[in-house]
Amino acid sequence: MTDVAPDQCVFCQIANGTAPASIVHEDELTLAFIGLRQFHPGHTLVIPRAHFADIRELDERTGAALMASVVKITAAVGKAFPNEGLSLWHSIGPAAFQEVPHLHIHVHPRLHGDDFLRVYPGALPTSQAHEREAYAATLRQHL
Ligand SMILES: [Zn+2]
Repeated sequence: MTDVAPDQCVFCQIANGTAPASIVHEDELTLAFIGLRQFHPGHTLVIPRAHFADIRELDERTGAALMASVVKITAAVGKAFPNEGLSLWHSIGPAAFQEVPHLHIHVHPRLHGDDFLRVYPGALPTSQAHEREAYAATLRQHL
């Protein structure tokens, strides 16, 4: 996923002005533009200008700028378009259905019953406390 050259990456092309997009916000490190597919009107993408495959590659400065832009865009989408809620969506890799290998955060207006972004395929049992503690211990070893 990280092997895409910036000159072949459509989001890099949007960031450097060589591909068209309906840009709604830009600053030194980030930009936001209207998504091609509008499940509900207002679906917007927020990206870093520089090519990062996903959030794991971000430096702290770019990460802070990206989150600041996500906050700004999410608030604006929530005011500008009909919604009963909002979803933020970032996928990493093909198993998570990442289509463009340049970090992007989707901001989606949501409506009750829209059947979009169903996170769990069905009812799941609540995990046991000892399982959660074991997972937390595993995760802490990788921080
Ligand atoms: Zn890129």
